[in-house]
Amino acid sequence: MLADDQQGVLLHAIYDTFSNWSCRFSFACHKGCATCCTQSVTMTTLEGQGIRTYLAAQGRIAELAGPAFLPSLAERSIRLTTNGFVAAHLRGEEVEEPAEWDLRPCPFLADNACTIYAVRPFGCRLFASLTPCAESGAADMPPGYLTASTILLQYIEHLNQNGRWGTLVEILGGLAGEGRADGFGVPTAPIPGFLMAPEERRVVEPLIDDLFQQEINGKRFDQWLAGARP
Ligand code: SF4
Repeated sequence: MLADDQQGVLLHAIYDTFSNWSCRFSFACHKGCATCCTQSVTMTTLEGQGIRTYLAAQGRIAELAGPAFLPSLAERSIRLTTNGFVAAHLRGEEVEEPAEWDLRPCPFLADNACTIYAVRPFGCRLFASLTPCAESGAADMPPGYLTASTILLQYIEHLNQNGRWGTLVEILGGLAGEGRADGFGVPTAPIPGFLMAPEERRVVEPLIDDLFQQEINGKRFDQWLAGARP
């Protein structure tokens, strides 16, 4: 079992490695464009705890008692985690998309800017488009980019072995609620494998190689990952 603070260190290694890798792309995204900042953003409780710590340090923890984070939690649950989604695909099952995405603005959006930018979850960090997406509503991602991002989402979920997964509002609302410890989100799952086309390897592998070779608190990242689940 990885201690929570070790999970946090590994999470930030993922964030930093992704940031270094993704800066090679010329994305159209800029401060003030918040098309992707909706209540459908998902994350783990590991990331939720980081946001709570950040808000507490800023004297903003009371924000989590606001109406955006109150139930109806059941209504907004997405039932398949990233690893659950990949596992279903690997078994050849049909995977249903949610009937409707919740496109209401994220509660941390103010004047079209993120008020928790330093600790935004990976689900926000990966969202990017080569062309402005506000009109089409669809992100234009480079080949292999979404696959690489999905693999990192899988690592985060795998490392957060005692955690839960759901929308940002659901996870933060659940963490803030008394006595609802098992009543929100979906338990995180181990990595079942990956979905990657052969032609995506040349894009994805430099990112993974960079991450795996990093020495973090006496072990390489891949060793932490391999030992994270019993
Ligand atoms: S946490 Fe920040 S970056 Fe993520 S959806 Fe909310 S406002 Fe946007």
